[in-house]
Amino acid sequence: MNLSISNLSKTYSNGVKALNNISLTIPQGMFGLLGPNGAGKSTLMRTISTLQDADSGSIHLDELDVLENKQAVREKLGYLPQDFGLYPRISAEVMLDHIAQMKGVRNKSDRNYLVESLLQKVNLYQHRKKALGTFSGGMRQRFGIAQALAGNPSLIIVDEPTAGLDPSERNRFYNLLSELGENTIVILSTHIVEDVSTLCSRMAIICEGELLMEGKPRDGIEAVAGKIYQKTINKEELDHYKNEYQVISTKLIEGKLNMHVESELPLEAGFELTTPDLEDVYFSHIAKKVDPITI
Ligand code: ADP
Repeated sequence: MNLSISNLSKTYSNGVKALNNISLTIPQGMFGLLGPNGAGKSTLMRTISTLQDADSGSIHLDELDVLENKQAVREKLGYLPQDFGLYPRISAEVMLDHIAQMKGVRNKSDRNYLVESLLQKVNLYQHRKKALGTFSGGMRQRFGIAQALAGNPSLIIVDEPTAGLDPSERNRFYNLLSELGENTIVILSTHIVEDVSTLCSRMAIICEGELLMEGKPRDGIEAVAGKIYQKTINKEELDHYKNEYQVISTKLIEGKLNMHVESELPLEAGFELTTPDLEDVYFSHIAKKVDPITI
């Protein structure tokens, strides 16, 4: 199964071009869609999820024309949106039962079995009687996955899933997501590079509505190998370096600024060649569109 996006564009009524001629093929497995806030990720996710229309272009899930057959797509789709409303007084079990009913599971005992197995899968069975309003951030996200899985979807879309989770909740959520990838298409939209490096076998980077890179994380890293240098400087020196070099990222370490610079040519003493990681790949691409230090 493949999701194939062709020449997709969307301009909002305020003139913001959120998607600019995006073409992308997404195979089975875990696919990371990476971009800074405002890049167009949610617009793309909502369009694939049939919640909004594009101005032009097409999306196909194998032979199925997604934008023309919304109901058929919804039956195959599991969607965990960025902010998904929970009914705070309803228990996890009752809510999932309701969602399963909406997804067409009419038989009560089938539904009981489905709800119980979903709650077990996301490790919420012991909390099944608790009101959703009492759930922590991590529990809410795991519940979100349970509801997204309710219809046995072949396409799962998860929008910014780890924002607001603490490190142990994030790890648990990573483990859960990594189990989903094998027989389905899972698209993980995020601005957190670690989410993609931990989970995804393929990825794309978008910024200002444009596709900047698509492929395997490993190939992205290979493409910048030998070009990323680092140097530790005083904060006041940054402007000078930004004028002279392609500074792609900065990090404060013990009060000093560790800066990464991209250069095709070897740099003078004081700069040290680094082994790049996915963050370097990300910032290297983003720096071609926007000043990555201000985002
Ligand atoms: P991301 O999910 O990557 O943060 P979005 O798709 O939410 O990006 O937004 C892309 C751009 O479109 C941003 O500049 C955002 O302000 C704008 N935008 C998003 N939704 C709307 C809308 N309903 N009306 C107008 N502008 C919008």
